[in-house]
Amino acid sequence: MTEQSKNRKSIPARTKGAVCALLVLLAAVPAYAKGSADAPGQNTQTAAAGQAKYVFVFIGDGMAMPQISAAEVFATARSSKDINVTRLGFTQFPVSGLTTTYDAGTFITDSASAGTALATGNKTLSGVINMDPGKTKAFKTIAEYAREAGMKIGVISTVTLNHATPASFYAKVPSRSDYYDIAVQLAGSGFDYFAGGALNQPKGKNGDQPDAVELAKARGYTYVNSREAFNALRPGAGKVLAINAVLQDDGAMPYEIDRGPGDLSLADYTRKGIELLSDNPKGFFMMIEGGKVDWACHANDAGASIHDVLAFDEAVRAALGFAQAHPGETLIVITGDHETGGMTLGFAGTQYDTFFDKVALQKKSFIAFNDDILGPYKRDTPLARARLSDLVPAIKDAFGLDYSSLSSFQKEQLEFAFQRSMGNEIERPVAEDQFLLYGGYEPLTVKITQIMNQTAGIGWTSYAHTGVPVPTFALGVHQELFGGYYDNTDIFRKLASAMNLAP
Ligand SMILES: [Zn+2]
Repeated sequence: MTEQSKNRKSIPARTKGAVCALLVLLAAVPAYAKGSADAPGQNTQTAAAGQAKYVFVFIGDGMAMPQISAAEVFATARSSKDINVTRLGFTQFPVSGLTTTYDAGTFITDSASAGTALATGNKTLSGVINMDPGKTKAFKTIAEYAREAGMKIGVISTVTLNHATPASFYAKVPSRSDYYDIAVQLAGSGFDYFAGGALNQPKGKNGDQPDAVELAKARGYTYVNSREAFNALRPGAGKVLAINAVLQDDGAMPYEIDRGPGDLSLADYTRKGIELLSDNPKGFFMMIEGGKVDWACHANDAGASIHDVLAFDEAVRAALGFAQAHPGETLIVITGDHETGGMTLGFAGTQYDTFFDKVALQKKSFIAFNDDILGPYKRDTPLARARLSDLVPAIKDAFGLDYSSLSSFQKEQLEFAFQRSMGNEIERPVAEDQFLLYGGYEPLTVKITQIMNQTAGIGWTSYAHTGVPVPTFALGVHQELFGGYYDNTDIFRKLASAMNLAP
């Protein structure tokens, strides 16, 4: 699929084709697993006949309705002007619910407390992973219960594998930034398949600890970090730690919009997980995170977010193919841990109109632009000789932003942000107005994506998370448990019920 998925022009075709394939698949799902006309909601936790033997939990980090809707409107705009929105695969699941995300200390959760809620059913404070607010008591995770019951366990993420969300399925630490402790706990987890981004600080904050990758190898993990070695993995490979060959942003996989031809995708890692774990008579539990939806939205980069949501949907489709082959035994749950950015469809300047075809002009994420264009320019250009006009062609190439078409107000904003970017970090004011304008990101790049997004009709209110509920979707055995309006801690109990685990 790599060739096709790298061809941006093919997005509408493959989205629509996949939707057709999904409809066929949904028709093939047995009647008992279908429909939610009488969805019982959170009060019906008793397991009906059958047990979820193969369980996929997909978490879109920072993914709520705005991120999902933006991806669907984008897919629609790319395909036609038809008002009928092109649907993602997972938004067509037979059961959907709404999930509250507040944590023990705030209405606006972070990924650590949200991950703790999803993985263990407990509320805790932001920043804490699988411990109580007093940081003395540790919680057991759904993945650990599943492993005890004989299931094989996979943890996949586009960001570093010891980042908060993946860590929430295997680690217990008082602070999410204890990256080294988390990496050591990964090596000792006994889980079967870790794949995606690298380990952050594998030798500790100061680089003076035993390498966590070596610790994992000593615990019996096969470590691969090339596409060839990864593709060669076969069932019976034993425990696997697979790190993407190409890394971006301190060890994460590249944004989908930046992914090179033939480079591995979240869907590739999901398919391999299925291949490696499904020969187990007791089944598997897999958590698959689209982690950079969140990172894109922190930076107010709608284009990067949208392409990562589409890649996340591709990974879900890999699971759907498996569900089709294993009806009555497979459960797929999709949720988000919180919304990020206060993204919305609609902007004051475009009122009732959207122009998502403009988002399709973007070819690089904000971070790729910083790494490839702005960083080198800043390094090589003395302040006195720096001119925004030097970067105008590169801005057009990367974002499709045509400088000559901008209003004088927008040109003024870009020039101001350019001057800010050219000042060094120390000179850059940290005053409130600067934070509200750029959120600590590279001012020029944030301003470019904001202008692009506003022109398309996309608005933002924050560089952090927001407190609105997220949607949850379910397909397969015990899907009915996931209808209704419930809390993120309930997802743990629903999963345990569907898998017949008795925490
Ligand atoms: Zn998060």
